[in-house]
Amino acid sequence: MAAAEPRAPGAAVRVIFLGPPGAGKGTQAARLAAHLGVPKIGTGEMLRAAIARKTPLGQQVHPFVEAGSLVPDPLLVALVRERIAEPDCGRGFVLDGFPRTLPQARGLEEMTGGDPHAWVVFDFEVPRPVLMLRLSGRRWCPSCQATFHLVNDPPKRDGLCDACGAGLLQREDDRESVVAHRLQEYDERTFPLIEYYRTRAQMVPVDGNRPMDVVFRGLLEAVEVRA
Ligand SMILES: [Zn+2]
Repeated sequence: MAAAEPRAPGAAVRVIFLGPPGAGKGTQAARLAAHLGVPKIGTGEMLRAAIARKTPLGQQVHPFVEAGSLVPDPLLVALVRERIAEPDCGRGFVLDGFPRTLPQARGLEEMTGGDPHAWVVFDFEVPRPVLMLRLSGRRWCPSCQATFHLVNDPPKRDGLCDACGAGLLQREDDRESVVAHRLQEYDERTFPLIEYYRTRAQMVPVDGNRPMDVVFRGLLEAVEVRA
């Protein structure tokens, strides 16, 4: 892969990843953030951490996450507002899993001081049956947090973590019934958001049903051209 030009000093990069669960956004967002040298802000991880630590916010959001429902906008907005106020976000950030609704998008504009026109918004598209397979095959290690996939990235020994040998589990929100619910909610609540950004930001459609390296090259090109 060709190395990207170094970014101009002081140029903040703000990237949003839209797309249904299972579209591969998280992996790509982490890779892009590392490449650009800015933090990846994943609301899924932030929520799981808050729940595990039993913070006041964590206790408020736990029932929603457990049921596979979206967390209420004001809670998520508060969570993200705190995070992007931290100094490491000064050069920009890559958002993964936020915003997911119009009120969240408006909250984001408010907390960053407005104009999203220079932002890059990636809109991942993946066929529904592919998403179902990807999500319901996910497994994770409760001991060391390593992740696996029954088809795409299976552990060497059935049901056991390669790294530490602990028994692998399926996240509650990756169970098939919950996945169907998550995808339906995505459709209902996120499509208006796509319309919203179409006229306000640099919207880049992404075919997420391709090899990861191919997808990543496309993302890099889009960011380098538009930033
Ligand atoms: Zn492990």
